[in-house]
Amino acid sequence: MSAENATKRDIRALDLRALQAFFSEHNQQAFRADQVYQWLWQKGAHHFDEMTNLSKTTRALLDAHFVINHIAVDRQQRSSDQTIKNAIRLHDGLTVESVLIPTETRSTACVSSQVGCSLDCTFCATSQLKRMRNLNPDEIYDQVMALDRQSQLYFGRPLSNIVFMGMGEPLMNYKNVIAAVERITEGLGLSPKRITISTSGVPKMIEKLADENPRFQLAVSLHSAREKVRNQIMPFSTSFDLETLQKSLQYWYQQTRSKITFEYLIWKGINDTQEDIDALVAYCKRVPSKVNIIEYNPTDFGNFEAADHKVIEAYKKALERARITVTVRRSRGKDIDAACGQLANKLIPLES
Ligand code: SAH
Repeated sequence: MSAENATKRDIRALDLRALQAFFSEHNQQAFRADQVYQWLWQKGAHHFDEMTNLSKTTRALLDAHFVINHIAVDRQQRSSDQTIKNAIRLHDGLTVESVLIPTETRSTACVSSQVGCSLDCTFCATSQLKRMRNLNPDEIYDQVMALDRQSQLYFGRPLSNIVFMGMGEPLMNYKNVIAAVERITEGLGLSPKRITISTSGVPKMIEKLADENPRFQLAVSLHSAREKVRNQIMPFSTSFDLETLQKSLQYWYQQTRSKITFEYLIWKGINDTQEDIDALVAYCKRVPSKVNIIEYNPTDFGNFEAADHKVIEAYKKALERARITVTVRRSRGKDIDAACGQLANKLIPLES
């Protein structure tokens, strides 16, 4: 970044009203703000020169005051199952990862919300990176747009779904994630129902979110409905006990009428007993929910081992008997470390 640019503001930190104020201060008509806003958030412009319906003088005015910070796709890896992992370079040189997951009928974008993560889930590779900073709304938006372009290019169709299951804890970057979701739904014309925010479960933030009448889906990484076990594998959860989490989820359902998806990993010797199964069934009965059993993806550390197929079946049967919807998800992109919990900027060292 040049010294001159370092002193300019990032124009995408301004909302529409702030843009209008800028144009009025500079004696320009208010509709210029709408035009610029469209260029930034609907057409995804990364340079003022692209804004061809603005005069050269207006473009120069913008250029004198602002920069458009944007991401760059640094490196792409393609899995044998067609999943594409992108290393994304941010304007300050840090890196995050985003994944495009195609199926027969869908193209799902898995995006990051933070550089690293402040939580400490012992089975997740991202937790080893520590949180370096939150992503801005435009950095989340740019990941989605880049994946949408890849989906069109490689699979001939736009994105159908977006999941916040990349690096970071979305509810620990609440404001920026909400702003990004707004811009993404506007920009892609995608229904918010096709967007899922996955959280490890921060009760206060879930309640705050429920109050905003969101239209997207909520997924919670539960992994155990037994306090002691959950505290062991997700140490941060000692501050958020299961009952408080349950109350926040009941509140979410009361406000939104939208069921919660519990994400659930099953490991040998950790949560593979009948007691674990019973606890999950009981928890699901108290919270309107469905369960997504995710295949465990090994990381380079930790002593976790996926449970036997028999145990997964036992979980599935018990949930079905209790009339709780359950799906077992096969992981995608494992051969390139692009699957859930494997995002760790492995190939590209983090620049400090
Ligand atoms: N922080 C958020 C979103 C990122 S993790 C959250 O916790 O929900 C996205 C999902 O991948 C979570 O359900 C997480 O528990 C799961 N995950 C983490 N490590 C994993 C691993 N090694 N194998 C499979 N899934 C993993």
